[in-house]
Amino acid sequence: MPSAIVIGGGLAGLASAAVLGQSGFQVDLFEARGFLGGRATSYPLPGDTSEVIDNCQHVLLRCCVNLMDFYRRLGVADRIQFHQQFFFIEPGGRTSVLQAGGLPAPLHFTGSFLDLKFLSAADKVAIAAAMLAIRREHGRRQDLDKITMLQWLREKHQTERAISRFWNQVLVSAINEDLDRMAASHGFQVFWLGFLARSDSYEMGIPAVPLGDLYGPKGWDSIPNVRMHARTPVERVITDQGAIRGLRAGGEQHSADYYISALPFERLPAVIPELDLKLEGFEHSPITGIHLWFDRPITELPHATLLDRTIQWMFNKSGGRYLQLVVSASRSLVEMPRADVIALALRELGEFFPIAKEATLEKAHVVKEIRATFSARPGLEQARPGSATRFGNLFLAGDFTRSGWPPIMEGAVRSGYLAAEAVTRAAGDEQKFLLPDIA
Ligand SMILES: Cc1cc2nc3c(=O)[nH]c(=O)nc-3n(C[C@H](O)[C@H](O)[C@H](O)COP(=O)(O)OP(=O)(O)OC[C@H]3O[C@@H](n4cnc5c(N)ncnc54)[C@H](O)[C@@H]3O)c2cc1C
Repeated sequence: MPSAIVIGGGLAGLASAAVLGQSGFQVDLFEARGFLGGRATSYPLPGDTSEVIDNCQHVLLRCCVNLMDFYRRLGVADRIQFHQQFFFIEPGGRTSVLQAGGLPAPLHFTGSFLDLKFLSAADKVAIAAAMLAIRREHGRRQDLDKITMLQWLREKHQTERAISRFWNQVLVSAINEDLDRMAASHGFQVFWLGFLARSDSYEMGIPAVPLGDLYGPKGWDSIPNVRMHARTPVERVITDQGAIRGLRAGGEQHSADYYISALPFERLPAVIPELDLKLEGFEHSPITGIHLWFDRPITELPHATLLDRTIQWMFNKSGGRYLQLVVSASRSLVEMPRADVIALALRELGEFFPIAKEATLEKAHVVKEIRATFSARPGLEQARPGSATRFGNLFLAGDFTRSGWPPIMEGAVRSGYLAAEAVTRAAGDEQKFLLPDIA
C-alpha cells in the first residue's frame, strides 16, 4: 500500500486525505490545532463553553461542486441547507428579494430583478448590459487578470448605485476583496458560474450544523486508511537530494512515499524552507465576524445583505436572537477596539431592524481573522503555484495555489483534489478526483 502524509487539516488537506484514503493510500494527516477545518471551523465560545460558534459564517453556492462532493464523501452533504432567496435590506428596513423565477437561465432572475426596490431603472439597465457583457467576454477576453473589477465596471458605464449596492454587495463578500483591488477575472467567475450559467447555481448553501461537525469522526469512519493526528504541528520537513525524506512532528520523525503540504502560504518558509517559493505580491485580506446574542428575536429572516453600511451580511443563527454579522475585506475594523466594533454593529443593526434598538444585548463576541484569505489582486494568478514542487514526492495544496478558483472553500477543496491527483500520477496509477465546473 503506498503511503502519503498530509500536512494541515484545513479543507485542502482534508479533501486530499479523503480521496487518497478512498483510493487505497495509507494516509497520515498532521494538524497543529486540536480540531479540524482550519479557517472554516468552529469551537466553544471563549468563556462560555456551552455555546459552539463558527469562527465566521461560511456559505457556498450550488456551483461549488467539488466542495459538495467532499461533503458527500463524508456523508454530510444533507447538512447543507440551500436557500433560494437573497434578501437586500436598505437602512430604514425596506427589503427586496432576488430569486429565480420560471424562466430558463440566464433569464431566471428577470422578474425579481425588475422588482428590486433599492435600484433605479437606470441602475438595472446598466447591470443588465454588464451581465450581457460578461456572457460575451467570458472565456474570450484576455486581460481580466490584469485589471480590477472596478475598472471593468467603469468601462461598462455602471452607475454609482449599481456599483455600491449590487456589484460591491455581492462580490466583496464572495472574493473577500474590494472592487478596486480585486482582479476582474474573479468577479467574472462569480457571476458567470453563480448567476448566469444555471438557474439554480446561485442558491446559497448554509451549514445547518457548526462547521466543525461537518468534519467530525463519524464522517471519517466511513473513509478508509486515514489516520488523523490532531495537536501535532509539523515542525520541519526533512529534504535530501531533491526529495522529501520525512518530517518531524510532535517530537517524532515520520516518513511516507508522498507528501502533500496543505499549509497556509505564510507557514511554508518555516516548515519547508528549502521549498523556496517566490510568493511575491501575496498579501492577506481580513474578515471580521461579529456574534451578537439578544434577549429577544431581532428578525425572522434567515439571512440578509445590509446595504450602504459597514456590516455586509446578517445570518440568523438561532430564532432571531443569535445573529452573526460579517464584514469582508474588513481593513477598517482591524485596528478598532472590540467594544467599538460591537457598538458600531449595534448602531447599524438598529437602522435595519428597529427592534434591535430596544433589545438587550446579552453577550457578544468579535472574531477578527486578519489572515482570512489572500488578496485576489490583478496579476496574481500567474504567481499562484501549482501542485508540483521542485521535490518529486512533495505536492502543494491550499486555497492560495492555482486551483482555478478564488481563495474560498471550493478553491481549497479543488486544490486538495489536484494535489491528490498529482500523487496518484507520481505513484504510476493516475486517478481523477476533480469535478469540472458546471459551465
Ligand atoms: C472569517 C472567514 C470567513 C470565510 N468565509 C468564507 C465563505 O463564506 N465561503 C467560502 O467558501 N470561504 C470562506 N472563507 C475562506 C475559506 O475558509 C478558506 O479559503 C479555506 O478554509 C482555506 O482552506 P485551506 O485548507 O487552504 O487552509 P486552512 O484552512 O488555513 O488550513 C491550513 C491548516 O494547516 C494547519 N497548520 C498550520 N501550521 C501547521 C503545522 N506546522 N503543522 C500542521 N498543521 C499546520 C492550520 O492549523 C490549518 O488547519 C472564509 C475564511 C475566513 C477566515
